[in-house]
Amino acid sequence: MAEMFIDCDSFFASCEQAINPSLRGKPVAVVGSAESTQRGVVTAKSREAKKYGITTGMPYFQAKKLMPNGYFIRGKPHVYLDFSRKLHDKLVTYGKYVHPCSIDEFHVSCPEGYEAAISIAEDFRAWTRNILGITVTAGVADTRVLAKLASDMGKPDGLKVIPYEDISKEIDALPVDDLPGIGYRTAATLAKRGVHTLGELRAFPKELLRPLMGVRVDWLYDSIEGREPAYGWGLPFKTKSMSNDFTLLESTADEDVIKAHLLMIADNLAGRLATENMAARVAHLHLRYTDFNDVGGSFTIGYDMTLTDHIMDALLHLYKRIYVPGRSVRLVGAGISGLTKEIQLRLPIDEESDIGRRIRDVLGDMSSRFGPASIRRASVACSTGMIANMVNPLTAGVTISKGL
Ligand SMILES: [Mg+2]
Repeated sequence: MAEMFIDCDSFFASCEQAINPSLRGKPVAVVGSAESTQRGVVTAKSREAKKYGITTGMPYFQAKKLMPNGYFIRGKPHVYLDFSRKLHDKLVTYGKYVHPCSIDEFHVSCPEGYEAAISIAEDFRAWTRNILGITVTAGVADTRVLAKLASDMGKPDGLKVIPYEDISKEIDALPVDDLPGIGYRTAATLAKRGVHTLGELRAFPKELLRPLMGVRVDWLYDSIEGREPAYGWGLPFKTKSMSNDFTLLESTADEDVIKAHLLMIADNLAGRLATENMAARVAHLHLRYTDFNDVGGSFTIGYDMTLTDHIMDALLHLYKRIYVPGRSVRLVGAGISGLTKEIQLRLPIDEESDIGRRIRDVLGDMSSRFGPASIRRASVACSTGMIANMVNPLTAGVTISKGL
């Protein structure tokens, strides 16, 4: 069994260079702003722009000072989504399980092993270069976490393999927070115990960390020792809450766009509840304004939420309480907690929730067959720019977009 991680290099900037060949080899920064390029921040930069010290999140005026003759381009979300869809469509032709992780990152599982994974990676990298005009980096290893780490190490435009026998040699010198899933809090906890690198972590007695980190310890050691965690991907502990957030490509005060992102998150959370056969009682909302001020709140509902509509009702209640109309938002986040396996029926069972349940089942079925980002409600797809020029939302508020 081999796992592969695919990550596009400087994705937005590479797409811009691909559709406009005169930009190839030039320093390009993609700037996102609802109002104008002038007020935006850098959301992506080409390899050439990195040499000028341009970083993601840097305000335009600062980037312009560092790179006065550089090319600054307003982001085009529909173009990047179109590239993403083509990448996904190509990957599924290899007949492996493909899991889209973000707009430009994919996991591919190869039960046949390393050789098959490497030959797919080589073919796919040649295809993206020759047909799409962008480069991707592939990482191949025994587990998904190590495959992601390998792709980070192989950047840009590389194919990096970490065979099982070389894991220690390859990763032991890396800082612990290079490991996907290790945030600054965990890194700080480990640093207090004198653990700074993955090698030091490997040498540290696992059981001494258990009181501090609980079951996450098993996930950590499984990851660095090349075992796929038994409990699967993403939820290495008993689920107490679920959340999801989106940094918008362009800050916006357009309430339809903000609400569409909330609906997308509500859909995602409802899907995860259905997968775990759970219900939730508390909804949380988190907005970050363009000036980096965060606002948020939570709301406890008197019934078990299981469907998108339930979660969305609660989020809209919070939204009305929290959002100041006209203020520009750069991040939309929402979550649920108060999770329970004991689902009480929401009485009376009205027709509306019956339709909602059917929509959820279709969404769940589609996303398990074609990937979590393969299907979106029309209102979400239109307002978030996933489908350009869509005229008439389809029946039942559901639309299908292939790939992401
Ligand atoms: Mg990338």
